[in-house]
Amino acid sequence: MSKILIIEDEEAIAELEKDYLELSDFEVDIETDGAQGLERALSGNYDLYILDLMLPGISGFDICRQIRENKDVPVLMVSARKDDIDKIRGLGLGADDYITKPFSPSELVARVKAHLARYERLVGTGLEKNSVLEIRGLKIDKTARRVWVNGKETQFTTKEFDLLAFLAQHPDRVFTKEELFREIWNMESFGDIATVTVHIKKIREKIEFDSSRPQYIETVWGVGYRFKA
Ligand code: CA
Repeated sequence: MSKILIIEDEEAIAELEKDYLELSDFEVDIETDGAQGLERALSGNYDLYILDLMLPGISGFDICRQIRENKDVPVLMVSARKDDIDKIRGLGLGADDYITKPFSPSELVARVKAHLARYERLVGTGLEKNSVLEIRGLKIDKTARRVWVNGKETQFTTKEFDLLAFLAQHPDRVFTKEELFREIWNMESFGDIATVTVHIKKIREKIEFDSSRPQYIETVWGVGYRFKA
């Protein structure tokens, strides 16, 4: 069931929206105060936001901007004034839709459904395209962070997993130890790059049939490592 947060100071309108959305099986929360609404928007796990532009305390503009910085789910902005809608469109706040009051509740429900369906499509295709890598007997699920070697699930530490997934995503490219250290340990390469060598060794012990003759991660002498496609 999708969860929706309505931030709207006119309680009668908020309640009407909530009633209609609940009839369509959505779970709905209401906040009538801007600041509290923002706090709930950022801390809660909602699938869509319906946001009134004119709110006491903090404006819908600011709330929209802060939601956008933290969440990628749909935001529908509502305003009583057509002028305001034109203005906020121009500001590029990142709202997904703008609705002028008064609107019919069934129109609101239709728009909510359309945006949720569109969002789910986007997320769904993104996952299918990127989440599972299969290279010969090795299967890496990046979303679930799980690895199978010849059908058997194998445990990896966080850094081992990150390193393996990074190399497997860039097959046939040679990376130096410095590059890998920067990429995976996320800092300048003044640290101890020997840690890369240690992690490669551990990964090989888990994925290679014979780690002295690796079939997946090759050593390119004097340069670094390459994942064989
Ligand atoms: Ca208002």
